[in-house]
Amino acid sequence: MTQHDLIIVGAGTSGMAAAIAAGEAGARVALLDAAPEWGGTLHVASGWLSGAGTAIQRAHGIDDTPAAHLDDLMRISKGTIDPVLAGKAVQLMPGAVDWLMERGFALAPECPLYGFNHEPYTERRYYVGTDWARSILAVLDAQLRPLVDAGRVDFRPGHRVTALLREGSRVVGVRVSHADGESELTAAHTIIASGGYNANPELFERISGRTLYADDAYRRSQGDGHLMVQAVGGRLRGAENFWSSFGAVLDGYDYPSATLCRPEHRPEVRDPWEITVNRRGERFVAEDEPSVDARESALLAQPEQIRHIVFDEAILRDAPPLIPGWTADDIRARCGQHPMFHSAATIDELAAKIDVPADSLRDTIAAYNENLDGEDPLGRIVRPRPIAQAAYHAITVHATSVTSAAGIAVDEQLRVLDGDGEPIEGLYAMGESLGSGMLQGQAFCGGMLATPALAFGMALGRELAPAS
Ligand SMILES: Cc1cc2nc3c(=O)[nH]c(=O)nc-3n(C[C@H](O)[C@H](O)[C@H](O)COP(=O)(O)OP(=O)(O)OC[C@H]3O[C@@H](n4cnc5c(N)ncnc54)[C@H](O)[C@@H]3O)c2cc1C
Repeated sequence: MTQHDLIIVGAGTSGMAAAIAAGEAGARVALLDAAPEWGGTLHVASGWLSGAGTAIQRAHGIDDTPAAHLDDLMRISKGTIDPVLAGKAVQLMPGAVDWLMERGFALAPECPLYGFNHEPYTERRYYVGTDWARSILAVLDAQLRPLVDAGRVDFRPGHRVTALLREGSRVVGVRVSHADGESELTAAHTIIASGGYNANPELFERISGRTLYADDAYRRSQGDGHLMVQAVGGRLRGAENFWSSFGAVLDGYDYPSATLCRPEHRPEVRDPWEITVNRRGERFVAEDEPSVDARESALLAQPEQIRHIVFDEAILRDAPPLIPGWTADDIRARCGQHPMFHSAATIDELAAKIDVPADSLRDTIAAYNENLDGEDPLGRIVRPRPIAQAAYHAITVHATSVTSAAGIAVDEQLRVLDGDGEPIEGLYAMGESLGSGMLQGQAFCGGMLATPALAFGMALGRELAPAS
């Protein structure tokens, strides 16, 4: 057995940040990852960051504060974030963004922004790298590599932690499975930084009660940390904060499926010409609803969170591209060939192909067409033309979720809590293992996963190093 000061389970966003901070502070760190390389979700994520009161903002003359950020999070999440953890996060996040910048982060020149793809903030506090999340990984990589080379961080790729070791009520280390068999490591502190469970369809369904439609997650996001913590008496929370997007076109119905493309649904980018209907063949939201959160909320309430974009041949021919980069012929070519693209000579035939009640779809389209000059019952303003000219087309879209809502219950010091709400000695958790529901609540709040993962990682790494 090997003795370390600190064991970090997972060398992703938060684990790398913690290892750097602890290693620089002089701790003997064991950084374990099931994958053959470090980086975790940074290999697949977009990597949008947020933080209020950053040096970037000051350079742009923006006067912003963590308190204003917290107010915005409360507004966007409709009051469903955890105020304690989110309050801690917004205090630490500007420091994490500054740290990245000081160490060479390649900031995209258009930043800071109010928002992108999610409900915008009231201030410009949103940042991304020129190479998306890989820009974050490049900085972490450059900081961590010398610490590993110098023997200050003991990085072990291909080491999957399978259990937490206990002495009495205290967690004292981990059991690890690797190519040479099994071994045990002990340390004064163990941090769970193993990410979410969105690559584990069974666990996803068990926790959220929903089907995992898309396989967008990092493949090692298996929920191992969640399960190991439960095995030593910890508990999960936040499943009620499940959230999903306005959707993507998947490759097929063999869930979880790869994403084929994303139709443009942002009215600020493209006016909708089509209608969108649920599995009952009914419209359920104004297709030009300006709030992304309102669109997402509406779809979340629909059966199976599936919608169909319905249009006719004239719209296909004349409207601006519905799918960025695709021509009308690209869509026509898939109709009848791809399970998510449908064409038919009549509305009834289209309804049969997308498996919605024909009378309902007929009524929906008739009501939409008859009322183009009147007040739309859902409040839609933009209605360029009726849906009236065969062929009729539909594209099936699934709401997708790339994050894990439920996570490990911790206190403000990130100490894992047991069923009675008492800290389990020696055990901490951070990053997405805390659940996206704590910091985003029932919404997608820009940058509220990657940035807290970095910020909590740095803070905890520094704090648990014996020198501090
Ligand atoms: C497609 C996509 C886009 C996203 N875009 C954004 C965005 O724009 N902004 C934002 O804020 N967030 C975004 N996120 C979420 C964000 O990137 C993640 O929440 C965050 O990076 C997670 O960091 P982490 O350290 O908790 O986990 P990860 O970075 O996932 O790291 C966990 C590590 O633990 C390892 N591991 C797992 N189990 C074990 C085990 N048993 N033993 C050892 N190692 C193990 C894994 O291999 C992995 O390396 C996105 C996520 C996805 C999937």
